[in-house]
Amino acid sequence: MLDIKITKTANPAAKPDSSKLGFGRHFTDHMFMMDYSRTEGWHDARIVPFANLSLHPAATVFHYGAEIFEGLKAYRRPDGGVQMFRPIENIRRMNNSAERLRLPQLDEEEALQILDTFVRLEESWVPSEPGTSLYLRPFLFGNDEHLGVHSIDNARFVLIASPVGSYYAEGINPVRIMIEADDVRAVRGGTGYAKCGGNYAASNRAGENAEKLGFSQVLWLDGVERKYIEEVGAMNVMFRFGDEIATPMLTGSILPGITRKSCIELLKAEGWTVNERLISIDELGEALKNGTLTEAWGCGTAAVVSPIGELFYKGESFKIGEGKIGEVTQKLYDTLTAIQWGKVEDTHGWIRKI
Ligand SMILES: *Cc1c(COP(=O)(O)O)cnc(C)c1O
Repeated sequence: MLDIKITKTANPAAKPDSSKLGFGRHFTDHMFMMDYSRTEGWHDARIVPFANLSLHPAATVFHYGAEIFEGLKAYRRPDGGVQMFRPIENIRRMNNSAERLRLPQLDEEEALQILDTFVRLEESWVPSEPGTSLYLRPFLFGNDEHLGVHSIDNARFVLIASPVGSYYAEGINPVRIMIEADDVRAVRGGTGYAKCGGNYAASNRAGENAEKLGFSQVLWLDGVERKYIEEVGAMNVMFRFGDEIATPMLTGSILPGITRKSCIELLKAEGWTVNERLISIDELGEALKNGTLTEAWGCGTAAVVSPIGELFYKGESFKIGEGKIGEVTQKLYDTLTAIQWGKVEDTHGWIRKI
């Protein structure tokens, strides 16, 4: 058990209007922090009033990008209680990301204790309007106070939280996605499977281009042959080819999403054939032309599932469905959200009540 020292704010903020939350714009009254040094290990676990961080200008994170993060949510149940969805999966993935970037790992039990303690303290910030939740953002970064390129001796773990609005305030509308033919996000052997800020920095250029052209996100191809589908922006991707559900296999350059994993488990339990395999851009093109590709969707914590209505590749546009969410996509959305918001009983062991 960690000894978490709690210093409460003297000035609790007014809660924002929960019909106008957006994503990641409002923050709760407190934050959790603890520090790591090679000699002391993790120490000084504390919850303090939410405030700017004070860091040495030479801190590793500013120069060499040693930063990883996670994203999960606390949901308000109909009975008024609060719960998290598969938090142990986020903790394990954060430890895998830490291993890749040579940042210190967390003890799983202590990490759960941190999440429980923090969410309990900020309980009143978990909104209750339909589709809203408290987004939890743990992050961990290298904090050595010198410019030498060395293995990391000092690090900090921080947890902040943001009440977020319904992703689908205007209904679930299919999005337009641009397949990126030039830039790549990650390569095998790189950091694609780690949830690190650097992957996002590498995505910025293509993301900005796509946005300018009116697309909501980029669909990445593999970094070697630029032939196989990898994932969308901050979501994994799934396709329905007739009776098969296919999603790119985890080759090392794809982020192993917890929503992806949950979708696969739910679909298999319903009797669908789900294949984690290579999906080439040629196969996708063929299936789009001959009509066997009937549904495509992105999946991730923020949106749950997001139907893809149009794919754009090298000047050609392909429509999927008829501007409406497909039946498998809708069913997945309904099932997952019912479990996450505690509207049905969790038979999978995915829920952690606070
Ligand atoms: C976080 C993330 C996802 C989705 O993962 P979830 O665990 O389902 O939220 C997918 N791709 C990338 C690049 C991500 O950072």
